[in-house]
Amino acid sequence: MKELTRNSIDPVPSAIPGSEGISNPAWTSLRERLRRSKFRTRFKLGEAESAYLETRGLETIHLHARDFILKRLAPAQPQNEGKQTPMKGHPVFIAQHATATCCRSCLKKWHRIPEGKQLTAKQIQYVVSVIMRWIAASC
Ligand SMILES: [Zn+2]
Repeated sequence: MKELTRNSIDPVPSAIPGSEGISNPAWTSLRERLRRSKFRTRFKLGEAESAYLETRGLETIHLHARDFILKRLAPAQPQNEGKQTPMKGHPVFIAQHATATCCRSCLKKWHRIPEGKQLTAKQIQYVVSVIMRWIAASC
């Protein structure tokens, strides 16, 4: 995993599991927007999350990301909307806050994904890919 991320150069997307849901230009422009947000840039992987990532690897983290999104974000009316994503404890949670994929309200505001409807398979893939690209660029 380390060789993917040295020097903070973006890793090759094909090397990141689950990263194919967002195009390179779309990711570049999203990242620029996120960088201008004081709130979003506050989120960084802590020691615990980095260690977890190192141990489990990106493949496993990808499965967790899919699972979290399916359960916490995909329903039309997610439980605890706005508070369904903890602020720490898993690399995916941090990535969600950093990329504004933490709740349906943020998904609407930042990613133009409407609220009140179940996420489509394509939207789920998009959200997961945003998370995985952020994680791969941050580890
Ligand atoms: Zn949110």
